[in-house]
Amino acid sequence: MTITEPTGTRTAATFDSLDPRTGAVVATHPIASEADVQAAVERARKAATWWSGLSFADRKTRLNAWKSLITNRIDELAAVMQAETGKPQGDAMLECALAIDHLAWAAGHAKKVLGRHKVPSGLVMANQKATVEYAPLGVIGVIGPWNYPVFTPMGSIAYALAAGNAVVFKPSEYTPGVGAWLEKTANEVFEQPVFQVVTGLGETGAALCRSGVNKVAFTGSTATGKRVMAACSESLTPVLIEAGGKDALIVDVDADIEAAVDGAVWGANANAGQTCAGVERVYVHEKVYDEFLEQVVARTKEVHANNDADAKIGPITMPSQLNIIKRHIDDALASGGKAVLGGPESVGDRFVQPVILVDVPETSAAVTEETFGPTMTVTKVKSMDEAVALTNASKYALGSSVFSKRNGMQIAEKLRVGMTAINGVITFAGVPSLPFGGVGDSGFGRIHGPDGLKEFTYAHAITRQRMKPLIALTTFQRTEKAEEQLGKMIAMLHGRGGKK
Ligand code: NDP
Repeated sequence: MTITEPTGTRTAATFDSLDPRTGAVVATHPIASEADVQAAVERARKAATWWSGLSFADRKTRLNAWKSLITNRIDELAAVMQAETGKPQGDAMLECALAIDHLAWAAGHAKKVLGRHKVPSGLVMANQKATVEYAPLGVIGVIGPWNYPVFTPMGSIAYALAAGNAVVFKPSEYTPGVGAWLEKTANEVFEQPVFQVVTGLGETGAALCRSGVNKVAFTGSTATGKRVMAACSESLTPVLIEAGGKDALIVDVDADIEAAVDGAVWGANANAGQTCAGVERVYVHEKVYDEFLEQVVARTKEVHANNDADAKIGPITMPSQLNIIKRHIDDALASGGKAVLGGPESVGDRFVQPVILVDVPETSAAVTEETFGPTMTVTKVKSMDEAVALTNASKYALGSSVFSKRNGMQIAEKLRVGMTAINGVITFAGVPSLPFGGVGDSGFGRIHGPDGLKEFTYAHAITRQRMKPLIALTTFQRTEKAEEQLGKMIAMLHGRGGKK
């Protein structure tokens, strides 16, 4: 079966966003040209001058006003998101709530994290007062995906704004209405266009990369991330890349199996598996494998994808993903794996029913590539060392989960990933003070938390002489005596640990 993209109408200057549950047109949006993007960036640059000149407190007031506005109209935002992604209403609300919480955290913590603060100046430069502050970069281009069209870009938008930057946001062509809604509400709060949205297709995103913004924060697939980085390299524009994942969930012999099953079922199937940090691989200790598998199959049977009110998961938002999900299931079966729930027939025209695969070789596409559907592979391991080695063998390294009553932290510490949830799944994404981001093909740089604020700044270090130096070093008047004193000081400070 080959599924083709049901495209809406695309004229030279507009495109339609579609409801993936039905294919109906949700709305028509402009395709921003290179000149449109350039004009938005120029407006943003002027607004950034005003915005960065405000105090942290004044920015916080405005960001909190935006936060309250979004909160008071959360139903409206969730409805736009639901229409464009097809996700259930409860999931849309959860996503909005988490995004609001991040906006509040970024606004509330920017001063403490980024404001000028004193650092120790050390003995050699004891006469200097040393301080550092993190200054805004200017205009940040944010390019976002469709799977979490509010939460994911807000991880960059909120933190970039709180740090004193203006933002030009290019939402996915599948969720332009969500971006437009955010811009509309921002315009009600900010006196100047510190947050603008340019809608369009991939080419609009590419234009944003070439527009002279001071940084591009990209969230999307690894393949597009490489293109973004290549385009940005031409102008030495720094990039933050939040790309795909192939996250593993590890179940130790002492795990609470019911909790691990619950985590695996939700982690693999929530949002129809279209989650960058969703569970795609499960490694289970051989002693609890049968018990886990029996329960995970039984519990997953309670989940079905549909358009009705009691369906826990919705459609596959991007039609071309259906072919990828199908290819991974086919490859798993062709290479010796078995489907213990569902199979190739689970992939429909718009909806995919949950699939559980076992005995899949680690070389199969179902294990090595991001599937982005409601599927999981469950693999028996002899030890937690084996589970760790298999988890770390992936080219992706975004999130991970470990279920163990006693060994969670020891296992977590051995994983080469950006985030780990112990006895839970994806919980790290909801903690605003924790950084979020990946390693390897999952990207680099961090959103959220203090690291996420600093990501949109440059460090400005300042020393101020508070008294004459005891030993004058940074002058051509430096004496031999001063050099001798320096030698003695360094030997005293650092020489004692070395071998003679
Ligand atoms: P894509 O890579 O297809 O697109 C991401 C964004 O890039 C879209 O806005 C897209 O526009 C735009 N784009 C496309 N081509 C270019 C280009 N040449 N230059 C600049 N921008 C371009 O990803 P998806 O939207 O399909 O999102 C799913 C992916 O995102 C998955 O791999 C998922 O794992 C990852 N993701 C990662 C997260 C993380 O935090 N690590 C979080 C959420 C998702 P258009 O849609 O118009 O083509």
